[in-house]
Amino acid sequence: MRVLFFSSQTYDQDSFTSAAARHGLDLHFQPARLTEDTAALANGHEVVCAFINDDLNADVLKRLADGGTRLIALRSAGYNHVDLAAAKRLGLAVVRVPAYSPHAVAEHAVALILALNRRLHRAYNRTREGNFSLHGLTGFDLHGKTVGVVGTGQIGATFARIMAGFGCKLLAYDPYPNPELLALGATYLELPELLRQAQIISLHCPLTEQTRHLINPQSLAQLQPGAMLINTGRGALIDTPALIEALKDGQLGYLGLDVYEEEAQLFFEDRSDLPLQDDVLARLLTFPNVIVTAHQAFLTREALAAIATTTLDNITRWAAGNPQNLVEG
Ligand code: NAD
Repeated sequence: MRVLFFSSQTYDQDSFTSAAARHGLDLHFQPARLTEDTAALANGHEVVCAFINDDLNADVLKRLADGGTRLIALRSAGYNHVDLAAAKRLGLAVVRVPAYSPHAVAEHAVALILALNRRLHRAYNRTREGNFSLHGLTGFDLHGKTVGVVGTGQIGATFARIMAGFGCKLLAYDPYPNPELLALGATYLELPELLRQAQIISLHCPLTEQTRHLINPQSLAQLQPGAMLINTGRGALIDTPALIEALKDGQLGYLGLDVYEEEAQLFFEDRSDLPLQDDVLARLLTFPNVIVTAHQAFLTREALAAIATTTLDNITRWAAGNPQNLVEG
C-alpha cells in the first residue's frame, strides 16, 4: 500500500523507516506542506500521512479523495486542522496518535519555565560574548509558587506531577477533573479564579470552538501582574496580538510559546535569510522575557519512535478492516 507523507522532515523519514520494516508498507516522503496546490502529489496513494500544519480543509480532502486516497493517517494527537464532516462525507477515514509521549511535551513546558525564570537565553548569549554580568538575571524559587494547569489530560497531568516535584501549589481548570491531579493536592477552579491566583499558567487543552482565544484581553487582565504564561497546546488558544499589550505594560512578566496562531506558514522551515513578514511574531521576539520555540515540544527520540509505531499500526489495522484510533466528527 502506498503511503505519502506530507511536511516530512529527515527525523520523520528516520523514525518511520526504522519502524516500517515489519509493516510492509510503501512509504514516500514529501517535504511539501499539504495544501490545495500540493494535494495532487498524493494521486495514487491510498494513504496520506499528515502533520499538524498540513491543511485538511474540505477542498483539500476532496482533491485527495478524487486522487484515490482513502485514509488520512495523522501523525499527531491534535486533529483541529481536519474538516471531519467533509472527510466523513467523502468516505475518508481519519486516524491519529492519541498518545505518544506526554513527557516530551510536559518536559518542554517545564524547560520554557526554567529558561524564562532563570533567563538562560540571555545568560547563554552573554557569556559567549565575554559578558559575565548578572545584571537583570534575577529569578525566583519555583518552590512554593502557584501553578495553574489548564487542561489536565495526559500532558497536563504529567506537567502537574513535575511541578509538584518542585514544591509548587497546583491549581487546575478542566471540565473533567482528573483524579490524578486531586491526588497531587490540586484544587480545581473556574478559569478566571485560576488566572487570578496562579503565578505560572500552562495551557494543555485541545483547540476547540470553546477554547479558541481562551486567553484574550479580558483573561490577561485577570492575571497577577508579572505572571508567566506558557503555551505548548495550540497557537489559537491565545489571541496573540493581545499578548503584546500585556507584555508592554508588565501585566505579563514572562511568555513561553511553542505554538503560534499563524505558525503554519512559518514553522519547521529555515527562514533565516528572509525578512520576517509576520509583524505580531516579530514584535513578540523583541521582548527579552519571551521565548518562542517552533513547535518542538513533541520532538524527542521516544516520542518520534512512538508516533511512527502507532501511525504504522493505525494504517495496517485500517487496511485489515480492524481500525483503531479513528477520529470521528
Ligand atoms: P488529552 O486529551 O489527554 O487532554 C486534554 C484535556 O483538555 C482533557 O482532560 C480535556 O477534558 C481538557 N479540555 C477539553 N476542553 C477543555 C476546556 N474548554 N478547558 C480546559 N480543558 C479542556 O490531550 P493531551 O495528550 O494532554 O494533549 C493536550 C493538547 O496538547 C493536544 O490537544 C494538542 O493540542 C497539544 N499538543 C501539543 C504538542 C506540541 O508539540 N506542542 C504535542 C502534542 C499535543
